[in-house]
Amino acid sequence: MKVKKIETLYCDAGWRPWIFLKITTDDGLVGWSEITDSHGSPRGLKGIVEDLSPAVIGQDPRATERIYWDLYRHTRQSPGSVIQKAIGGIENALLDIKAKALGVPVYELFGGPTRDSIRVYWSHCGTTRARAWQVTNTKKLASYDDVAELGREVIQRGFTALKTNIVTPGDKPTVPMQGFQGGSGTTDQNVSFETIASLERLMTAFRAGGGDSLGLILDLNFNFKTEGNLSIARAMEPFKLMWLEVDCFDPAALAHVRRSTTLPICSGENVYTNRGFRPYFEAQSMDVASVDVIWNGFSQSRKIADMAETYELNVAPHNYYSHLATFISAHLCATIPNVRILEVDIDDVPWKDELVTAVPAIARGEMSLPTAPGWGADVNETVLKQHPWPKA
Ligand SMILES: [Mg+2]
Repeated sequence: MKVKKIETLYCDAGWRPWIFLKITTDDGLVGWSEITDSHGSPRGLKGIVEDLSPAVIGQDPRATERIYWDLYRHTRQSPGSVIQKAIGGIENALLDIKAKALGVPVYELFGGPTRDSIRVYWSHCGTTRARAWQVTNTKKLASYDDVAELGREVIQRGFTALKTNIVTPGDKPTVPMQGFQGGSGTTDQNVSFETIASLERLMTAFRAGGGDSLGLILDLNFNFKTEGNLSIARAMEPFKLMWLEVDCFDPAALAHVRRSTTLPICSGENVYTNRGFRPYFEAQSMDVASVDVIWNGFSQSRKIADMAETYELNVAPHNYYSHLATFISAHLCATIPNVRILEVDIDDVPWKDELVTAVPAIARGEMSLPTAPGWGADVNETVLKQHPWPKA
C-alpha cells in the first residue's frame, strides 16, 4: 500500500473556512483529517501540504510515526503554527487509512478504548448567537434575558457545562475576539470597568438560566495581559467557574494568574507539541491542559497528554471545528487516562451534519465513542463543494 494523492479541501463554514485533508492510496483507500486554521493563513496551509507531499507520496501510509518524524526533520527550523497544523493533518489522515485497512477504530491502535463515552461542553455558547446568528439560523443574542434563556436551553438539551467568551448582547451584539478589530491601543490589551461589568452581567444571566450545577467556563482568549486577566479572574470568583480560560505565551505569567485566583485555569490551545507544553507544566501554569489534536496531530497530542498525566493534570481537547474534528478528538480521549471534558460547538451552520457521513452521538451531555473503522466519519465532498471557500 502506497500513498498516491494528497488534497487540501476548503468549504465556507459561515464566519471561517473548514479545511480538510484527503489522502488516497494506490489501492483506493481514503483517509480524512481536518486541518482548519482561521488564525493566520488558511490559504498557506494548502501550500505547506503541497511542499510536504513529496516526502509522503509513494510511502506506506501505515508507518505513521516514521512519516511524522520525516516531516518533523524537513521542517525543524520552522516549528509550530501552520507547519505543525499541516504535519498533524497528514499524520491524522494516515491514521484513518491505517485503521480502515485493519478494520478497526483508530483508538484500537493505541490500546483503547479507555472509556465508553466522553463528557462534552457546549462551546462558544452565546458567542455564535452574537456574531453569527444569521449564518447559523439561531436567535440573535439581543438581551441578557436571551442569555438566561440560552442557559436554560443548554440544560434542557442535556448539557452540563458551557463555555462563552467576552460577549455583550444587544441590538448589535459584540464579541471582541483577539483584538481583531485593530486600531490604536488594541495591542495594549487593557481591561476596562465596562468589560468587567459586562462579564458580571453575562455570567449572572447564564447562572440564572442554567442553575447552580451548570459548569460555567469563560474564555478570555488573548484579549488581555496579566493585569487584565487577574482583574477579571478576581471579578469572576463569585461565579465559581468550572475554569477561566486564558491564552498566554509566558508560563510564569500564567502561573502567577493561577496562584492569584481561586478559579481553576485552563490554557494551551495555541501551544504546540510536548516541547511547547513542557515549560507550562514545569511552571505549574494550568489546572487543565487544552490540547488541539487537529493542530498537533495524534502522536504529539498523546505525548502531551501523557506528560500532563505525570503532572497530575487532565486534558480538555480544544475542538471548535466540524464534526470530523470532534470524532478525532473523541478518539484521543479514548486512548488516554486523563480527560477533563471535550469541547463541542453546538450552534453552527445548518448543513454541519450533512458534511460528514456520521454525526457525533451526544446525549445527556456525553458523547458515545464511535465504533466504525478509522475515525468513524468521512467528509461528504458533494456537500463540501456546495459551500466553496473563498466565496466566488
Ligand atoms: Mg480557548
